[in-house]
Amino acid sequence: MMSRSLTAALQGVDGSLVTVEADVRLGLPGLTIVGRAAGAVAEARERVRSALSHCGHELRPRKQVVNLAPADVRKDSPGIDLAVAAALLASHEIVPSTVLDRVLLWGELALDGQVRAAGGALVVADTARRHGVSTIVIARDNADEAALIPGLEVLAVSSLPELVAHLRGDRTIPAHVRSPGEAIAPRSPDMADVRGLATARLGLEVMIAGGHNLLLHGPPGVGKTMLARRAAGLLPDLDDAAALEVTKIHGVSRGRVASDLIRRPPVRMPHHTVSVAGLLGGGTPVRPGEVSLAHRGMLFLDELLEFPRACLEGLREPLEDGDVTIVRASGVLRLPARFQLMGAMNPCPCGYLGHPERVCIDPATAVARYRRRLSGPLMDRVDLVVPIVPQSGDAPELPEGESSAGIRARIDAARDRQRERLVGTPWRTNAEIPADAGAIETHCALEPPARALLRDLVRIRRLSPRAQHRLRRVARTLADLHADRDPTAAITADELAQAAALRCLPDA
Ligand SMILES: [Zn+2]
Repeated sequence: MMSRSLTAALQGVDGSLVTVEADVRLGLPGLTIVGRAAGAVAEARERVRSALSHCGHELRPRKQVVNLAPADVRKDSPGIDLAVAAALLASHEIVPSTVLDRVLLWGELALDGQVRAAGGALVVADTARRHGVSTIVIARDNADEAALIPGLEVLAVSSLPELVAHLRGDRTIPAHVRSPGEAIAPRSPDMADVRGLATARLGLEVMIAGGHNLLLHGPPGVGKTMLARRAAGLLPDLDDAAALEVTKIHGVSRGRVASDLIRRPPVRMPHHTVSVAGLLGGGTPVRPGEVSLAHRGMLFLDELLEFPRACLEGLREPLEDGDVTIVRASGVLRLPARFQLMGAMNPCPCGYLGHPERVCIDPATAVARYRRRLSGPLMDRVDLVVPIVPQSGDAPELPEGESSAGIRARIDAARDRQRERLVGTPWRTNAEIPADAGAIETHCALEPPARALLRDLVRIRRLSPRAQHRLRRVARTLADLHADRDPTAAITADELAQAAALRCLPDA
């Protein structure tokens, strides 16, 4: 008898519905799984057979064929085990086959029939909802994660006998009620500890307020990493849609059970020895890279110019499009990767060029070669370039800086002003306003004195049209950070001048 059950296949952070068909026919006894089973699914045969037998369900000594449809989708998660077992049980008439069309099953089987958690539960649950499947049967350890999807009935199982009893109507599993997740609010260090560094502090605030990318440059040990660590506490909370996207990505990546939606934007700080696949994503099965793990948050690259060229080149696509393409033998996959980039670099290979007390030991040619690694296309996406100047040793102790709470309040208000002004457009922050004269003129209008100043800046600094657009976006954010400014008023000359000061490339 032929029977069917439903499960899912994972492609990056998306899922698709998979139908498991099981058929028992005359022929040499054995279990065969077909339909692009790869990786862990190739071993499902052994796990499922052993689990069934351990729970007292020997397969008939016939030929058993399990087909995973559609055949063009690769299935490589062990989460498919539970659906394979259910389809086989139905084909042996141990459970009624009719109950299996309305539920999606997800869980890995241990050899003794226990049901184990499998990665990507949130993606799988979302797949069920999107395909109108109202119920998901899932490993108990994945149940809280699946229950994050609204409107989906979640049935948690610990073992195969529990599932069999439920499907036969002997003992109904009640719908899972999510245990409230403990609010994990990772406390990041406070901006109050950052003394001095006024320009860098302003750069960071403008970056986060307007969604811009920022490059800090200065000698080692002046506080670039210290600022990056504090940026985490300044980023605004994620809204529902963004929180679901971020939680899905991190669930797939870690196979970790999320007890609640991730509400705080992620901050990722990969080391410059990271591989291209580690940064951009890749592998089999595909794992999201750092750019995707930083989705809706911040990617901090310290020692930016020490990253391999392929990594820096690879950042262009996510910075332009907000996602990253991963090419594999089995096809092309796109993963979300919309993040704010914060880079930090030394002014030269040894780090001390321009330092008030130390001497740079690099020949001019080495410095030039080093700087050339800052590629034009990458810098095109960086609106803010800010120097960090070391404090000289005999300067008096500086007072504490403003606390993160105060800065965060200004950032949240500035984000509200941008949303209000950009309502009806696909953009939410000033940094997203495209480099197109019409859009810039509409959303970053200049007062007449500001327009005159821009003409002077274009002449003196030889600003390209793209550079002018960058300047106007940053000036717009500076205006949005002032509570007393009308969010629709044009940009002033002061704001434009301040924006120009926030793009200061290292001297040659
Ligand atoms: Zn040097």
